[in-house]
Amino acid sequence: MDPHALDALAERLPRGRVTDHHGEVATHARDRWALALLREARGARVPPPAAVVFPQTTEEVAVVLRWACDAGATIVPRAGASGLAGGAEAIKRSVVLDLHRLNRILDLDDLSQTVTVEAGVKGGDLERSIAAKGFTTGHDPESLEISTVGGWVATSSQGAASAGFGGASDLVLGLTAVLPGGEVLRLKPSPRPDTGPDLRRLLAGSEGTLAVITELTLAVSRAPALVWDAFRPHSFESGAALVREAVQCGFHPLVVNLLDDQEAGRMFGAFGHQGPVTLFGFDAAAPAIEARRFELRQLSRDLGGRPVDRELAEHWWDHRHDGVQWYEDVMGPDRALGRGVVADGMGVACLWRRLPLVYEQVRGALFDHAESVGCHLAHPYPTGASLHFSFVLRASTDGEVEDVYRDAWADATAACLDSGGSPAHHGVGLLKAPFMAEELGATGVDILRRVKAAFDPQWLLNPGKLVPRPDGL
Ligand SMILES: Cc1cc2nc3c(=O)[nH]c(=O)nc-3n(C[C@H](O)[C@H](O)[C@H](O)COP(=O)(O)OP(=O)(O)OC[C@H]3O[C@@H](n4cnc5c(N)ncnc54)[C@H](O)[C@@H]3O)c2cc1C
Repeated sequence: MDPHALDALAERLPRGRVTDHHGEVATHARDRWALALLREARGARVPPPAAVVFPQTTEEVAVVLRWACDAGATIVPRAGASGLAGGAEAIKRSVVLDLHRLNRILDLDDLSQTVTVEAGVKGGDLERSIAAKGFTTGHDPESLEISTVGGWVATSSQGAASAGFGGASDLVLGLTAVLPGGEVLRLKPSPRPDTGPDLRRLLAGSEGTLAVITELTLAVSRAPALVWDAFRPHSFESGAALVREAVQCGFHPLVVNLLDDQEAGRMFGAFGHQGPVTLFGFDAAAPAIEARRFELRQLSRDLGGRPVDRELAEHWWDHRHDGVQWYEDVMGPDRALGRGVVADGMGVACLWRRLPLVYEQVRGALFDHAESVGCHLAHPYPTGASLHFSFVLRASTDGEVEDVYRDAWADATAACLDSGGSPAHHGVGLLKAPFMAEELGATGVDILRRVKAAFDPQWLLNPGKLVPRPDGL
């Protein structure tokens, strides 16, 4: 990057917004993608960005994107950097746009039940602030404390209570975003915009490749007090059948989680529990709640399950964010499981009819490479569900395990697509970009590229992610 170009940017912004200090660029090179952490662990530095910019307002983001257009500079938006797919990796010596100073909670409308926030607000901060007024977004990813509201929407994040509240993109009512070139798009909050294709939905899941989201209005709900039911199904498949019936028959649980043998063993071993577990969390104040829970117990019995201690559900709920520290311990400098180890997760969405096959095939493909594989179903929909596979790979060195990692992802993704599933969760980033053609078909990828070119004719925003340029530049 021409230092004069950076000076020109610094001149257009208030003092202290632009830096190319080596410490700052080094800590903005990557997100939490396992492969980047692995490379760092073996001393192969992830190439740093040319500079980091810390905008504080939508207008400052617009200044940066206008400058990028003039200077031909590539820009990587980055917020909590909790992404697991390399979406915020600063490839191509880009300039990183660090959004964490866009951190104001602007308005809580308790009548309409909406909250308007800047995109860099951390999830935990938002939840604590609106909980004081009796509200929640209901969006509760494991990474709640380290991820941002803008990152949730940019990656179409899913949380532990998605059964009741949907995913992050379902909460979006309005947004402000800056387009490449600096133009500002403001879409006012609407409970149901029926004015052509919904541009809010177009930006949800676009992973910083089309625009930079600076402000969001999200739906909030009255914070529920949860009551729990827990069952031991006789197999993962019959647990999935119970979840399917509960969702399709209108039991309206807010939280659902079905843990297979391995995940339940890890989570509930200390309770002496064995076998899969299905957990349901309901709003204690919801109408006819006791009748619904009674019927659910009956349904579970009909499907061969039996009730187990609700303490299991409460234990799981209390520890639902613990995976962040565990991941840090395993993949960070401590390498808690030793060198040559990678821990990662893979999300897969499919229709109910396909679910047993997808579960078997993806699990089998991962087991060909992994020393352990667990699975849980936490995001049920009336027509299908998302499965989340957690796996640990081991080789003799941090170098060798990278090949194992690539093979595991390639084989498990092929198994997912062959059995009728779609890759889901945690974004596409660099990790899943190579699989997009198989998922969407050549025409689907071409359409995404045309959309990208319409928003960003110079391909300056988050290059290489989601759908890389056809010429690979
Ligand atoms: C241990 C662990 C557990 C996790 N658990 C979950 C989980 O339960 N559910 C889940 O969905 N995810 C989970 N994740 C993944 C991650 O937390 C989510 O993808 C999250 O939404 C990313 O938010 P972020 O603010 O950290 O975004 P970043 O990682 O900074 O960025 C992610 C992508 O979004 C883009 N982006 C970020 N902000 C903006 C913006 N304002 N405008 C435009 N583009 C933007 C970036 O360019 C990048 O492509 C987990 C991650 C870890 C490390």
